[in-house]
Amino acid sequence: MSFDSRIMCESLLLSKPMEEHTKRLHDPYFKPHVATKTVQETYIANCVWVPGPIIVGAGPSGLAAAACLKNQGVSSLILEQSNCIASLWQFKTYDRLCLHLPKKFCQLPLMPFPKDFPNYPTKQQFLAYLESYTKHFDLKPIFNTMVLSAGYDEEYRLWRVKTKVSEYVSRWVIVASGENAEEVVPKIEGMNEFSGPIIHTSLYKSGGCFENKKVLVVGCGNSGMEVCLDLCNFNACPSLVVRGSLHVLPQEMLGRSTFGLSMWLLKWLPVRVVDQILLLASHFIIGDTNRLGLSRPKLGPLELKKISGKTPVLDVGTLAKIRNGDIKVYPEIKRLSCDNVEFVDGRTEKFDAIILATGYRSNVSTWLKDTNLFSKDDGFPTKSFPEGWKGECGLYAIGFTRRGLLGTSMDATRIAEDIERQWNMDMKHLKSLRHPSP
Ligand SMILES: Cc1cc2nc3c(=O)[nH]c(=O)nc-3n(C[C@H](O)[C@H](O)[C@H](O)COP(=O)(O)OP(=O)(O)OC[C@H]3O[C@@H](n4cnc5c(N)ncnc54)[C@H](O)[C@@H]3O)c2cc1C
Repeated sequence: MSFDSRIMCESLLLSKPMEEHTKRLHDPYFKPHVATKTVQETYIANCVWVPGPIIVGAGPSGLAAAACLKNQGVSSLILEQSNCIASLWQFKTYDRLCLHLPKKFCQLPLMPFPKDFPNYPTKQQFLAYLESYTKHFDLKPIFNTMVLSAGYDEEYRLWRVKTKVSEYVSRWVIVASGENAEEVVPKIEGMNEFSGPIIHTSLYKSGGCFENKKVLVVGCGNSGMEVCLDLCNFNACPSLVVRGSLHVLPQEMLGRSTFGLSMWLLKWLPVRVVDQILLLASHFIIGDTNRLGLSRPKLGPLELKKISGKTPVLDVGTLAKIRNGDIKVYPEIKRLSCDNVEFVDGRTEKFDAIILATGYRSNVSTWLKDTNLFSKDDGFPTKSFPEGWKGECGLYAIGFTRRGLLGTSMDATRIAEDIERQWNMDMKHLKSLRHPSP
């Protein structure tokens, strides 16, 4: 047992009147009674004391948090339900995916992308980067370990994080389970009657198996738009269901990435003025999207993002296919039957398959017990950016800013600094107790 581990264990003791726990907290991998509070919980065979924070999820956010903590001298433990890092990117993304934003906005803290990577790295390159990030910081997540519940024990002032076989106990929990933990599958009338496959984009890899098929893509975020383009490239006949309004912007304008340009303009100008500039430039570059059946919201793209979290779509070629008729646009679906899809405007069309690009949701409310940090309704922090990273009693959130990997980096840095302060204070206090001045 390292000195640090022991000293942190003792810090718990010293912070509470719990003499009875003195012995068991001297071992970081102790199997104490602290794990078996009730009869229902006695199934927990293993209780593991974790001296540093417990991080739930080994996606980019969990890895970034662990790396920043390590950089500050704080060890952590990552629990990951899947059998690898970045499971969303490994298993639930399509083959042609590239980062939507330039690499400088997607790099994790303390380690930039390799110089020879393109401006928009491919999914494989991003995964290779994450692998080397993990290796570089010597991060060793515990795989195949789903967190079933996590709750704060007021009596012991500790977090109890339960998995199928163990209970992990720590002062800190960092929620890094992602904004995209579960697929959103809408209920559509007649879904069971539809004879063709209905799949979520998380299962879509490429248009290879849809050649010459009529495919309806439901949802027009970045994924839905890109899947349509991919289907076109594989000689399928895609159509797109567009419900409500959306902002489509070119991925690049005036020789710069639209995202980078927006960031730069926001340094000097108010958000509404930047929105006007973006919309004017978009009109010149991609034309009037309303005429293609993609009506724009009343609020500008950045203001809408700020208020609702709704991300503008960055066009990577789909609009041109809509314009030349390769992709048809339909309104909301009314009902499905056998091989027919009826739309709310009265049109009916036959389709061979349906792909649901209907997004994801957070799963935090299914396993994190009552806290003020996360909303029970949507599993996102209740406080808006940039305040949503820290809760009470050692609870933190990373990767829930609706600002992609840039938000992740900001959270990781803040969290590591905050925990390091507490960690160092404890160390100082304990060292003074162990070696009292004469
Ligand atoms: C198709 C697609 C393209 C995207 N492109 C970009 C982009 O270009 N730029 C950008 O910035 N963002 C992009 N994003 C957003 C994306 O969410 C982030 O890039 C990134 O994956 C977020 O990392 P994360 O670690 O927060 O979440 P995730 O990558 O979702 O990782 C969360 C991890 O937590 C694990 N987990 C969940 N629940 C539990 C549990 N109970 N117990 C244990 N483990 C658990 C999951 O298995 C997962 O491995 C894209 C998203 C999608 C879907």
